Amino acid sequence: MGDYMMIDTHCHLGKNDYENLDVVIKHMDNNIMIASGADMTSNCENLELVKKYSNIYATIGMHPSEVSVYNSSCLSWLESHINDDKVVGIGEIGLDYHYEGYDKDLQKKMFIEQIELAKKYHKVVVIHSRDATLDTLEIIKEYLDGYPTVMHCYSGSVEVAHILTKMGVMLGIGGVVTFKNASKLVEVVREIDLKYLLLETDSPYLAPEPFRGKTNEPYNVLYVAKKIAEIKNISVSEVLEITTNNACKLFDLDR
Ligand SMILES: [Zn+2]
Repeated sequence: MGDYMMIDTHCHLGKNDYENLDVVIKHMDNNIMIASGADMTSNCENLELVKKYSNIYATIGMHPSEVSVYNSSCLSWLESHINDDKVVGIGEIGLDYHYEGYDKDLQKKMFIEQIELAKKYHKVVVIHSRDATLDTLEIIKEYLDGYPTVMHCYSGSVEVAHILTKMGVMLGIGGVVTFKNASKLVEVVREIDLKYLLLETDSPYLAPEPFRGKTNEPYNVLYVAKKIAEIKNISVSEVLEITTNNACKLFDLDR
């Protein structure tokens, strides 16, 4: 490998996520990570990480699972840090109807308020959507058509992938694509032009094969790249070159 830089466009780098976070980060020397925020703890940790490591950038935002603690002071905190050095987007934000007891209306309000914040400051929107495809699509159509947006850990159909990419939405492809039962996602990767794809790990979750079930780490983005290369029948370097360019352009990263 070594010829092209890898960018893990979506990972979680919480102190408690890994046995030794510094080792995990060190493993990504010469490569780039974008640490995703999900709650106030991770948002604050991310702001520290970007100061400490030159190859880490951050997004900040409140995940839909934070719906019960989200309030206007979270939103003003996000606004007060959105222009901090190396904060490149708002996320992960979105809708999650997977667990019972969710409040759809409150999730939508929280999602839209954070989208509007991102748009006010021209920051990328990083979306989490789980069991909520139709509502997410509706909000994207209304607020984000043509706006710099990523659907992180994309796991939907080819049909929805076409709808999204026609609106300019980028698809984050993670370790799930390496799983044996990933035929739907393999189809998405085969059908969708590489110019719409980004590599990600969602570490410490969703480790790719051959590490499935273990703690994931950003370096494993290489296995996602290898799988995409195999599906598209192109070289791994080509996958890395194009997806790295996609990420740099979208998030306006300096290399
Ligand atoms: Zn995530």
